[in-house]
Amino acid sequence: MVKQREPIIAIATPYGESAIGMIRISGLGVLEKVKKYVRTKGEIKPRYAHFFALLDEDGQVLDEGVLIYYKSPASYTGEDMIEMCLHGNPLILKRALELFLKEGIRLAEPGEFTKRAFLNGKLDMTQAEAVADLINAKTDLARKVAIRQLQGELSKYVNSLREKLIQLLAYVEADIEFSEQDIPTISREEILQVLKEVQNSIETLMSTVKAGELLRKGINLAIVGKPNVGKSSLFNALLGRERAIVTEVPGTTRDFLSEELHMEGVPINLIDTAGIRETEDVVESIGVKRSIDSINSADMVLFVVDASKPLEKDDWDVYNLVKQRDHIKVLNKVDLGLDPSIAKIFPDGVRVSAKMGDGMQDLKKVMLEKLGVFGYEGMKVYVSARHAQLLKKSLEIIEPLIHSLEKQDISPEILALELREALVYLDEMVGAITTEDVLSAIFSRFCIGK
Ligand code: GDP
Ligand code: ZN
Repeated sequence: MVKQREPIIAIATPYGESAIGMIRISGLGVLEKVKKYVRTKGEIKPRYAHFFALLDEDGQVLDEGVLIYYKSPASYTGEDMIEMCLHGNPLILKRALELFLKEGIRLAEPGEFTKRAFLNGKLDMTQAEAVADLINAKTDLARKVAIRQLQGELSKYVNSLREKLIQLLAYVEADIEFSEQDIPTISREEILQVLKEVQNSIETLMSTVKAGELLRKGINLAIVGKPNVGKSSLFNALLGRERAIVTEVPGTTRDFLSEELHMEGVPINLIDTAGIRETEDVVESIGVKRSIDSINSADMVLFVVDASKPLEKDDWDVYNLVKQRDHIKVLNKVDLGLDPSIAKIFPDGVRVSAKMGDGMQDLKKVMLEKLGVFGYEGMKVYVSARHAQLLKKSLEIIEPLIHSLEKQDISPEILALELREALVYLDEMVGAITTEDVLSAIFSRFCIGK
């Protein structure tokens, strides 16, 4: 079952000076290949921490460290593996790498260790994906979700659905083969019941995708509005610290600033843009162009107006740029009073005073609601866009199947065919079947050495 592939190597720790730097080697015959450069007191035994000296081509000591040998199949990749902890100096690690590259061990591709672990059945696909999620997690909630997925929570959920369909398929196929004989069969009602359960579970899983993608990727949130409405003040108030420059001269934020903010475990990339309006000023017009760009790349926009005065043409110009997008209207400067016309035009606007810090909690709440972050407290797993796409395809088979079963009996042959197709997508989700394209798409987003 476990296959040992050609040896690969990578530096697994970040580049730069550190206490320890780790080199990872995996594949067929790695122990033989490194032995020549390694001096230990006794024989190298699997799963022992060996104090060792790393020797160069001339037998000179290059560095000292700790070496652990994992014998196949009891390793991360399932192959023979060696991990060397050396001193964390890029010079040492690079020299060590060179030595082993000369021995014919090739440099690992991003995520290749985990890919091998997957190919050797050490992890399924959702678990392998969780390794990358875990490494990239920017908030504690994102980390929690990733570690649960790594421990197989999502696989368990999907596998239970697969098992239900497989069971159903077994009944239906028995029905086809032995239809003339007297064997227990499954009724249409029972089939319908199972399919509806599966449908419900898939819908529940799919409902977590928005929050799941938010947790994994974070969102870009752009603050826009005409000059001087208080964008930079709002940026600072949301961050809870001074970062953007606030001035009374309109058009001061010439470029744009961005900072990461964590709200309820969601990583948010907050962007303060320059005021948008037509301008002659060259420097500002670059800022203006960028803010239009940042609106276009934003997942959500905070559209800010000075709510103490009636709206002006500039406000409408900006509004026309954002109204088609996911946005929240922020009525700022309410400490100076709320202009009645504004309250009428934007009744759903969130009233705040960025300067006084009033209304920030309300604004955050509206943001989280809009982002769809609430309502998943009971969920242990959050699916990714890839998962949701496969779940949707599976549902696109199951739903019509339920409808036609409700209306009439369908032949067991057709039923079996449809069930098998619905299963294919769930199989793909956990990686029971994969293609090389899917594999490379998934593992290319990993870092080297993982
Ligand atoms: P931007 O050009 O949109 O980034 O606006 P700034 O944040 O630089 O603010 C412009 C001016 O409005 C500054 O003088 C701020 O002190 C003032 N300002 C911003 N927010 C408020 C607010 O909520 N209340 C009051 N009274 N003044 C504000
Ligand atoms: Zn500003």
